[in-house]
Amino acid sequence: MSRRRTPEPVTDERLASCPFCEGREDRTPPELLALPRDRAPDTPGWQVRVVPNKYPAFEHQEVVVNAPQHVRSIAELDLAQLELVAEAWRLRAEAAREQGKVLFAGINEGHAAGASLQHSHSQLVWLEAEPPVAHVERGAGCPLCDLLRAELADGSRVVGQRDGLVLLCPYAGRAPYECLVAPLEHEPDGYGPLLGAALDLGAEVLRRLAEDTPRPMNLWLHESGHWHLELLPRLTVFAALELGAGYYVNTIPPEQAAAQLRRSR
Ligand SMILES: [Zn+2]
Ligand SMILES: [Zn+2]
Ligand SMILES: [Zn+2]
Repeated sequence: MSRRRTPEPVTDERLASCPFCEGREDRTPPELLALPRDRAPDTPGWQVRVVPNKYPAFEHQEVVVNAPQHVRSIAELDLAQLELVAEAWRLRAEAAREQGKVLFAGINEGHAAGASLQHSHSQLVWLEAEPPVAHVERGAGCPLCDLLRAELADGSRVVGQRDGLVLLCPYAGRAPYECLVAPLEHEPDGYGPLLGAALDLGAEVLRRLAEDTPRPMNLWLHESGHWHLELLPRLTVFAALELGAGYYVNTIPPEQAAAQLRRSR
């Protein structure tokens, strides 16, 4: 199976052409939101900035620039900065809800994970209804509460607990180091006060996977039912068996991945 472990380096050319760096506000469509709020729109001085996606796949799609500096990964951001990213997601989720839409929030980092720009950013897609994958995860009672109970009792796939959240490599993960971050207590609102800490746990996984060069990854929020983040480092590629048959060949068992992530603290 082919491995893409080498991230794209930050070159002068990439830096010079990046529309997301602070000071290049004129290279994006006018902003929809920026934090902190006390400044003139589309000027420097922001910590996170939300703009319309110039090349949307859906009718309404937004980008959250996760930091003013040219960082490649949320692994390079601290908790305070990730709290601001969470606050931007929260405020845009409210805006979407007011329009009768459902927000789908995720982060793609690295070419292997589908990111076209290197500068770390989140994608916010306004949908008409809960997306099918999230919908299917719902069941009688709460399947995630059942899963967390079983995983905590077993323990072998649990990486750690912090701030009322648990981080684990779930049974039958699709790819090496696939992770789940979820509140221990049943909590339906994904845009609540624990979201920033949850993003920080996801970032912690990326830091533990690589000290210097961030790995390509996809991360997304399933915000209803019992909310959680799913994080999929993209160290392998999905091929016919995965995409066509739904059988995911995971070369690192989740128990082994969890043990390694616990050790590399
Ligand atoms: Zn940049
Ligand atoms: Zn639950
Ligand atoms: Zn999910």
